[in-house]
Amino acid sequence: MKVDNEMILTIPALSKNESFARSAVAAFAVEMDPSLEEINDIKTAVCEAVTNSIVHGYDRQEGFITIRAKIMGKTLHIEISDNGVGINDISKARQPYFTTKPEEERTGMGFTVMETFMDSLEVAPNENGGVKVIMRKTIKG
Ligand code: ATP
Ligand code: MG
Repeated sequence: MKVDNEMILTIPALSKNESFARSAVAAFAVEMDPSLEEINDIKTAVCEAVTNSIVHGYDRQEGFITIRAKIMGKTLHIEISDNGVGINDISKARQPYFTTKPEEERTGMGFTVMETFMDSLEVAPNENGGVKVIMRKTIKG
């Protein structure tokens, strides 16, 4: 399918970039005329993935996160990747309430939230280590 628009954004894994990243993707998606609810779904999902890269992938140490977004017709594709420690057992990590940082009051619901707010979620090892999260959402407007 034809790519109507695309963007690639690489940012340092800093907490302040959580809100920047979600706003950037939301701004990119505006040309699709999403509803307020859809915009909020996208923002929430992006924020969960970026936060995971910061707190789990890089354990709040230095690193970079790359966000790739594409508009293909009415479908928004978002890919968020890091080169952090990666996930040993992806299917276990995706289960609701599974967290490796319970001491930080994490609830283990990030992947469940992404799955709920987007139409599809893939979690895979990134090339050269780390994690790649691929999400899609069809915008109805
Ligand atoms: P919450 O998102 O509710 O604050 P959480 O981050 O622990 O809690 P999930 O977002 O569902 O929950 O992630 C589940 C687990 O998957 C994490 O605890 C962590 O072990 C692992 N994980 C998620 N993303 C990454 C990543 N980018 N790199 C390494 N490990 C990750
Ligand atoms: Mg999380």
